[in-house]
Amino acid sequence: MASQQARQFLDRMHENVWEGMDLTPRPPSAADDAEAERIIEDLLRRQAALVSSEELERLREGLYENEQRLRGMTVSKYENARTMQSLHKLADSLERAGRIAGWRVPERPLLGTLPTGRVNVITLLVPGTGEHLVLFESEFSGFTYLAAKAVAEVLPFRRTPDGGAAFELEPAKVRERLERHPESARRFGELVAAYLETGVPYNAPQYMQDRVRNTWAQMLCDSVQLFALGHEYGHILKGHLGRRRPAVWLGGPDLADPEELAWNNQEEIEADAQGLTLSIAAGQSRGHDVPIGFLGADFYFTMTHVIERAINVLRHGHENTSAEAGTHPPSVLRRMILRHVLSRHSTPQIEAAIGLGENMEQAVEMLWHDLRPRLLAAHRAGLRPLGQWQD
Ligand SMILES: [Zn+2]
Repeated sequence: MASQQARQFLDRMHENVWEGMDLTPRPPSAADDAEAERIIEDLLRRQAALVSSEELERLREGLYENEQRLRGMTVSKYENARTMQSLHKLADSLERAGRIAGWRVPERPLLGTLPTGRVNVITLLVPGTGEHLVLFESEFSGFTYLAAKAVAEVLPFRRTPDGGAAFELEPAKVRERLERHPESARRFGELVAAYLETGVPYNAPQYMQDRVRNTWAQMLCDSVQLFALGHEYGHILKGHLGRRRPAVWLGGPDLADPEELAWNNQEEIEADAQGLTLSIAAGQSRGHDVPIGFLGADFYFTMTHVIERAINVLRHGHENTSAEAGTHPPSVLRRMILRHVLSRHSTPQIEAAIGLGENMEQAVEMLWHDLRPRLLAAHRAGLRPLGQWQD
């Protein structure tokens, strides 16, 4: 259990950061209600074939009761109760998978969110203690879900004889679908633009999605988040100490300068490998197969790479992300190493998983190709990303 001291530290930091960035937390809205209902009804649809109608009814009641309870919970005004619950469920799955694999699972760090200006997760130290604070970018889960949904929109799929669906990520097929449905690329662009310009991905125009695509998008989103948190568990499991660096930007008048843990490249690579193993195992306990588990990790980097380039184009008018021209940006390098690590275990399933990641990269490049000129035009018209985004 996280200490009271850690919670108070996070509360004060929330106030400082939100105020310092001149941002106001998004108040609960009708969109949240619709989102909750969508999640519940989707889960029930997936269970419908597996349980009796009485059991399904009990499940429905339980889920809506839980939703009511979440609303009644007093989480800080800077945290959304449903997001917190979902972070803890991710942690439950990862810790269970770790224990089954025989690892010494650490005590759960304090989990939370913060507008960190980076589409990822950071680890801070609670001053005066060795306690870890693992913070997701405030809209990380919303962005991940909507990005997975937007990508699912551009992928063709075919029905399989067993009543399921197989997605076809071959570049030629994706290109063909994009030509027939240019609105699917536009949606992805609207999402990235809304996130960078307002900090809130849900400000992008919303749209309905068919059930097959949406189920797949949710699995992908789940896998991304398991990997993101699994990576942080990876650092802890590997006993990485990191380097303490001041995170002055998080401090404020009533808060001593907080410290962030910065990891070196070797530690990042080890945490990626450990996080991948952990997140794939955790995903399997949630009914996901190995390829989608791997795709979550691979897509995490693909998504980060797009955001990094988008911030640069919108802010500076060009996409150079690295100070040293010609070197790979970290997200691309980490994705390359991840595929390389996995390719050492050469099984048909793993080859399929890597192929999936490579095809997904190409599909997202097609979306980027469509988005880049739009961002450049917006930059020339004077539009800039929010100051919070770090390039
Ligand atoms: Zn790391």
